[in-house]
Parts: sequence; C-alpha cells; structure tokens
Amino acid sequence: MRSYYIAGNWKMHKTVAESVTLAQELVEQLKTCKHKVMIAPAFTALSAVAQAIRGSSIVLGAQNMGPEAQGAHTGEISPLMLKDLGVQAVILGHSERRHSYLETDELINRKVLLALEYGLQPILCVGETLAEREAGNLEAVVGSQVRDGLKGVALSSLGSVTIAYEPVWAIGTGKTATPEDADAVHAYIRQVLAGLYNQKAADSMIIQYGGSVKPDNVSQLMAKPNIDGALVGGASLKVDSFSPIALFV
Ligand code: PEP
Repeated sequence: MRSYYIAGNWKMHKTVAESVTLAQELVEQLKTCKHKVMIAPAFTALSAVAQAIRGSSIVLGAQNMGPEAQGAHTGEISPLMLKDLGVQAVILGHSERRHSYLETDELINRKVLLALEYGLQPILCVGETLAEREAGNLEAVVGSQVRDGLKGVALSSLGSVTIAYEPVWAIGTGKTATPEDADAVHAYIRQVLAGLYNQKAADSMIIQYGGSVKPDNVSQLMAKPNIDGALVGGASLKVDSFSPIALFV
C-alpha cells in the first residue's frame, strides 16, 4: 500500500485551549492511522500543541515562516524559532499568502531554501486561479510556481519537500477538482519535476491535493495514481471531519 501524507491547516482559527483540545482528540483518534499526519495550528498555539502531541506520530507544522533566520524583521517568525518549538514541517506559498499578502515565487523560494537549510520539511503550495484555468494557463502557472519555488533545491534535499496542488478556486469554496482533473495536474507536476531532477525523484515525490477535501471525497481523490495525500483546511478544524480523512483507508 502507498503511504500518504495528510496535513491539516488550521489557519487563523482557535485559541490555545481549543487547539490543545483538538490536538488531544486527534492523538486519541489517530492511534491506528497508517499515514503521515501533520497539523499546523496558529503560531500562538504551537508550543502547547507540541506538548499535546508529544509521544504520538502526529507531526507539528507551521503555516508560514519568514525568509530570514534572525534579525530586524518585525512580526516575522524564523525557522530557528519554529525548530525551538518542535516544529518539523512548514506550509509555504499557500494561495492565501500569495494572493492576500502578495508573496512572490522569489520570496517563497527563499523560504523553501531557508526551511531546508534549518531542517524543516516544506510543503510548497501551488495552484491556479479560476481565471488562469479558464484562460488556458493552468500548466504555465503551476509549472512556473513549481520551477521557481524549487530553484536551487538540490536533488539530495528533495525527499524533505512536499508539493501541495491547491486550485485556488477550490479552497474553502466547497468546490473540489474532480479526481480525474486533479490527477492530471499532479501528473503534469511530476513531469515538471522529472525535467528538473529525474524520473525516479519525480515518481517518489509526495504531491498532496488541497481544495475542499472532506470525508466523503477523500477516498476517490486518494485512489488516483498521482495523488499522495491531502492538505486540508476547513475539514481539519474538527476531529469528526479530520479523523475520517486521515483514516480513509
Ligand atoms: C487550504 O486552505 O489549504 C484548503 C485546502 O482549504 P479547504 O480544505 O477549506 O478548501
């Protein structure tokens, strides 16, 4: 059986106490989970959630990270600070960062390289808007996000990187790409990766799908040959919806 990587992005939700409660519930529910599971609470809850999941197989993730290790960068969080709290993975280039906070591929690439330098596992998010898809630019947009995001990433570091394909029009909207559509884009991403590295590296890369993944659509999505996991937003906020996604098979 393939091994999948299911990640929950809690975004700007939950107090520290609420985050701890959810983390404790997940530890309990996911004891038999065969897949890699990551949860990314708000920065304010990372420390408490780290304690709550200690001893379990759940990986602690952050939702973003600044592009420098330290210095005069008011309001930013560095990889050193994340590591200090026990964070192992970091979501980078989420479409909300790209579109609401105008993060560029160049900035995201700096973060990817920095995360790897400090031993964090980046999840590089890519995805097209509806306008880009309808204009026939899906492959150009997603291809350049992958190429630019991975610029300078050595083949030897690629095993620490996950790609998340998240069509922007499917995030938080209840609209999901059909499993066939999503699989076709994942196959295209693998082709780009094979061009950048080699076929073996491309085949072993984990490519998550994100965009309104729910307990009732996860199995069909994960059954596709190029989909290796999920990055889950809304449905990751409740144990009753995230557990069945993580335990889908
Ligand atoms: C996300 O924010 O990465 C996401 C996929 O959100 P949702 O599952 O709510 O669409």
